[in-house]
Amino acid sequence: MKAAARGSFIGRCARLLLSLATGTSLLASGSAISREAPPSGPGTGHHPVLMISIDGLRPGDITDAEARGLRVPNLRRFLKTGTFASGVTGVLPTLTYPSHTTLITGAAPARHGIVNNTTFDPMAFNQDGWYWYASDVRAQTLWDSAGAAGLTTGNVHWPVSVGAKLTWNLPQIWRTGHADDAKLLRALATPGLLDELQPQAGTYAAGIDESVEADEVRARFAERLIARHHPDFLTVYLTGLDHTQHAEGPGSAPAHAVLERIDTAVGKLIVAERAARPDAVIVVVSDHGFAPVDTAINLSRVLIDAGLLKLTPPDPFGKVKIASWEAAAWTSGGTIAVMLARPEEAALRERVRSLLLALKADPANRITAILEPDAIARAGGNPQAAFYLALGDGMMAVPYLGPTVPLRIPAPSKGMHGYLPEDPRMQSTLLIAGPGIPAGLDLGHVDMRAIAPTVAAEMGLTLSGAELPVLDLTVVRKR
Ligand SMILES: [Zn+2]
Repeated sequence: MKAAARGSFIGRCARLLLSLATGTSLLASGSAISREAPPSGPGTGHHPVLMISIDGLRPGDITDAEARGLRVPNLRRFLKTGTFASGVTGVLPTLTYPSHTTLITGAAPARHGIVNNTTFDPMAFNQDGWYWYASDVRAQTLWDSAGAAGLTTGNVHWPVSVGAKLTWNLPQIWRTGHADDAKLLRALATPGLLDELQPQAGTYAAGIDESVEADEVRARFAERLIARHHPDFLTVYLTGLDHTQHAEGPGSAPAHAVLERIDTAVGKLIVAERAARPDAVIVVVSDHGFAPVDTAINLSRVLIDAGLLKLTPPDPFGKVKIASWEAAAWTSGGTIAVMLARPEEAALRERVRSLLLALKADPANRITAILEPDAIARAGGNPQAAFYLALGDGMMAVPYLGPTVPLRIPAPSKGMHGYLPEDPRMQSTLLIAGPGIPAGLDLGHVDMRAIAPTVAAEMGLTLSGAELPVLDLTVVRKR
């Protein structure tokens, strides 16, 4: 919502046989992350990787597709031919940009630096600017690691990709939805790439367009990119399911229809990748789950009323702006980071804590927890936040929307995420298939930070900022 090297097949088999023979798992050990640098050049047997993200895809929509009346044959095929997670436990907050940066670095937001979708803007003048720029990412990405090893890299619309060092990049960027946005995208994309792909792929989708039709356009561009350049590592991001779940609710008929169309687009991408790179490993991930909502809480109301957020007098046109702030709500869907202008000032912290406790005492606000810095640090969340408010069932947060908005309003959408990562509804998806990947292996519940180092290992790479070892894909377990 916007407003919103490589492990060879032979090598893998050898590792599998060895691990079966010895009862150990080479990939499960921490040493798998830091194993020797990959050999370079062609013929080394390391796998290309196609990594597709379907924003907001709940794992049950694949594992329980039949019971939910969903026809998603291309995604369902991973359950039989590949390895999958019953669920992926995400990061604080379970939001698109922080999660996608974890998916590509293996680090939590506290380390990789993308702590929210939107950048901190307590004066509300940045026109809802998001963390579009790769320069804000403080941990090594899969793109960085692949590029450093001499592999070719591509990206279609993955979050936080503007300015990322890639061989072929169509980054995610938008401003207002005005036609000028297309000029901005063209200026930031790899020079010549749009012109090269457009004759066969059509007109590229506007960055602000989150429809499934835009997903289908971007998938066509990814297909053309694969066919023409055979990238060693390609990321593709599809956003229509998230958009529709926000608008219509998770599990709604429109959301199901969108997911079925995305499944078709993913099927075409897989065909293209298998044609170009028969030895590719294909990974499908999502960033978070979804939950239905009915009410929104506007923490700025409390801060304004307490004098912690001061407003200007109306200008001659009646417009009121934020004049100054001592405490601010940096909202993230199902959670709110509460920021202090002077975090070292104990009196200010205590004053805000009292306000938050009073809010939590009213059950109508559905605040389930107030996290303080120790708990935020344990969760890998924003180190600058003085508090995190965790919201409960049906409740979402809204950012500052104006001077007269009350504390609680009807939710502006039907579905939301951003809740604490331990909320089972926030579980996300991991599907992986390709040479050497076990068929029908259920990994159970996976920590999202383990995905990027595992993808790196498939390419024979390492990730310096990854916080967890490579997933064990060698030991075949029964479901
Ligand atoms: Zn998302």
